[in-house]
Amino acid sequence: MDAYRIDQGTKVILDDRMADDTGEFSSKSEAKKETGRLNERLQDLQDLLWAEHQHRVLLVLQGMDASGKDSAVRHVFAGVNPAGVKVISFKAPTPEELAHDYLWRIHRHVPGDGEIAVFNRSHYEDVGVVRVKQLVPESVWRPRFEQINAFEKMLAEEGTIILKFFLHISKDEQRKQLQERLDDPTKRWKFNPGDLAERARWDDYMAAYGEAISTTSTPWAPWYVVPTNHRWYRDYVLSSVIVATLDGLKMSYPEPLEELEGVVVK
Ligand code: AMP
Ligand code: MG
Repeated sequence: MDAYRIDQGTKVILDDRMADDTGEFSSKSEAKKETGRLNERLQDLQDLLWAEHQHRVLLVLQGMDASGKDSAVRHVFAGVNPAGVKVISFKAPTPEELAHDYLWRIHRHVPGDGEIAVFNRSHYEDVGVVRVKQLVPESVWRPRFEQINAFEKMLAEEGTIILKFFLHISKDEQRKQLQERLDDPTKRWKFNPGDLAERARWDDYMAAYGEAISTTSTPWAPWYVVPTNHRWYRDYVLSSVIVATLDGLKMSYPEPLEELEGVVVK
């Protein structure tokens, strides 16, 4: 999975990164089997994370419309105890949110001890859509790269494990997915006419995200550019990175408060 991890200082050109890679898999069923195995491990690791109450885990998902951020969460966290996982979907800011700094609404949703928080969109919108649509001038958004690095460093030093994923689809795959949304009555509600205007600015988005990823992939909060044209491979990559990271924490169940060996409940 290291192939998808962006080392600090690497200049990322998204167009040069594979969107349709399937790694070692030649079939969907093989990958799904492996993802299922990882999912069971994730269920156990989440239980340990909660029991230990020592770490906080923040997962950031970014990606163009129809890259499948919602379905990624659904697949990767299927069967994981919902009590320990919270998913926060960041939409266009409300007037109250706009009246504050851009990290105000973000900070209140970061995970607490033993929790996993999944951000479906995040503060990266504030250097993404905000930049592309010129909602603030460059003199405002450019300093945000450094601010974000400092914010994430603070979270990491306070005990948060941060992993950031860019779900990378090709422009043609987005066309197919958006068309499917239009054609399927159960998906049509997701279609937003504004999506086509955003699609028309594809190159600007790729440039903005490329620079954001290049400047904010750090040892304490690395980015992964995840090949997403094949959704089953995307799920496998996400599950692998998350499970490997949690495994690396070497967690164990806490010792009971007193000696309970041989205690019998009557
Ligand atoms: P969706 O994820 O499809 O429900 O759409 C959410 C919309 O909110 C997307 O068009 C985002 O670009 C937009 N959005 C999220 N965060 C911000 C932000 N900070 N500023 C402007 N628009 C945002
Ligand atoms: Mg949308």
